[in-house]
Amino acid sequence: MDLQIVNKLNTHESPSPDKAAREFLEEKGLSLEELKAKALRVSRILDDFYGRPLWYERRDPLSELVLTFLSQATSDTNSHRAFESLRSRFPDWAEVAEAPTEAVVDAIRSGGLANQKAPRIQAVLREIHSTEGEYSLDRLHGFSTEDAVVYLKQFHGVGPKTLACVLLFSMGRPVLPVDTHVHRVTTRLRLVPPRTSADRAHSLLQTLIPPYETYAFHVRFIRHGRRICHSQKPECPVCPLLEECPEGQRRLGLSFDEEESAKGINSKLKTHN
Ligand code: SF4
Repeated sequence: MDLQIVNKLNTHESPSPDKAAREFLEEKGLSLEELKAKALRVSRILDDFYGRPLWYERRDPLSELVLTFLSQATSDTNSHRAFESLRSRFPDWAEVAEAPTEAVVDAIRSGGLANQKAPRIQAVLREIHSTEGEYSLDRLHGFSTEDAVVYLKQFHGVGPKTLACVLLFSMGRPVLPVDTHVHRVTTRLRLVPPRTSADRAHSLLQTLIPPYETYAFHVRFIRHGRRICHSQKPECPVCPLLEECPEGQRRLGLSFDEEESAKGINSKLKTHN
């Protein structure tokens, strides 16, 4: 891994381990240390399978926030197209905030749900301007990660996943966005217990991984969710994680000790008699 990138991700601490997350795992009879070890094992397997994703600096925090709003319920291709269309129609964020909403809807139509997204984007831009005195979130670079999380939460419509996208993608901070793919694959692997909400999964997974793994963890689980561990019909027979995965083994009718897997020590697959 590029040393500069490791250093960038290591210069910031993760938000404090979530006490509630630890208590939640204890309630489920799961060991945090064993789940941490399992998270690293599956990460290494996916690195070998797909190659290791490397963080790179993209756009400024405010642009990342707008792009994240646009990315809701659509593909990366559509959201990036909508973002480029918005920027070419309104090169300045003040113009977006002050434009008639219908004009913003029109500019971002290719991203889907434009009627909902346009007023949300305008509202958050106005909120940021009233807080910062400018259309910029660049001041976040001087914040600790914990302070940046608290700061972003104040804005309407900015939840754990959205703020994590801004902090991770734009600033290289170790805050994990848990999207539908990350949530599904990590649940099937029992890195988070079944029926755990995405918000709870976020705090659990954040506690399981070291800061320098955050970006790679996010990207590799999305990749795996899109390519193999589909929502419907996951391709378990060709999955490199099968030995670590209770759900895959259940689907293939292989014997599996749930308790051992939760502890991360399952290594033998046996077919049912
Ligand atoms: S074994 Fe199946 S369910 Fe488990 S991670 Fe792989 S594809 Fe998904």
